[in-house]
Amino acid sequence: MEDEHLRSGCFASLDVLCAQFGEDVPYRGGLDAGFPFAGRRVPFLSPQKGIFRAAAQSGQAALSINTSAKSPYDDEELPHGFFYAYRAGSPDQPDNRALRAALASQTPLVYFVATRPGWYRPLYPVYVTEDDPRARRVLVTPGRMVGPLDEPEPALVEDPLERRYAVREARVRLHQARFRGRVLVAYSSLCAICRLKEVRLLDAAHIAGDLEQRGEPVIANGLSLCSIHHRAFDQDLVGVSPDYEVRVAARLLEKEDGPMLELLKGFHAHPIVVPSRLAWKPDRERLAARFDRFLAAT
Ligand SMILES: [Zn+2]
Repeated sequence: MEDEHLRSGCFASLDVLCAQFGEDVPYRGGLDAGFPFAGRRVPFLSPQKGIFRAAAQSGQAALSINTSAKSPYDDEELPHGFFYAYRAGSPDQPDNRALRAALASQTPLVYFVATRPGWYRPLYPVYVTEDDPRARRVLVTPGRMVGPLDEPEPALVEDPLERRYAVREARVRLHQARFRGRVLVAYSSLCAICRLKEVRLLDAAHIAGDLEQRGEPVIANGLSLCSIHHRAFDQDLVGVSPDYEVRVAARLLEKEDGPMLELLKGFHAHPIVVPSRLAWKPDRERLAARFDRFLAAT
């Protein structure tokens, strides 16, 4: 029972951190403070170890698992969940036991997926749904929160179709978060148009949409943009030419409507910031196709 309270305290604190930071949460200055429980602070995770069970817990199941930014998790996905590897050493060492205890007791965990060094996208609740001691890994499946809005409880998704949907949804969220992580790093966390340097207001915009041809989540298909410029770019109010110049839609240029619009107009015909590494620069072909659409819309 006490463990249940500890876990709901953990989830509630994560809700707050996610609302504060947006898509992903930093370790330093965020997760490293832990969450309050019974008068003390309990850590969320152990970045060094992967599998984490807090000393304050009474139950045997792990509280969280995490993967580093370097892990090739793209290869580790199945339609019904994500593989998570045992810790090195004996299958019976304490961390691996904590992983299997989560399966035996169907206890909800947090899965922290690193989106870039030092930043995590927390998925919760997740459940350990299969154990494969020979391959030294378990299968982790996203659950969901059910019940009243003010007191929702974590629940395993039983229906196979719903479960597939939950996995797909989690995967899309993770891909987006990782894409954002890569793009923001490439642009040194500033808006390519206005140079605003505030991570919480920055997005990774797709040049070719993720459902379009060449819409892959690679840095060359991304632009780091602040929320305003991202929205303006998506709505074809602002375009970026293949030679990396900002164009503001003619109908905005003709308007006069206060200082915010003047600011937006001021970037017209200015160059965007691009990463110095060649492979990270926005792909000119993708930009050209996108720019044609912008020109047609204005
Ligand atoms: Zn901006």
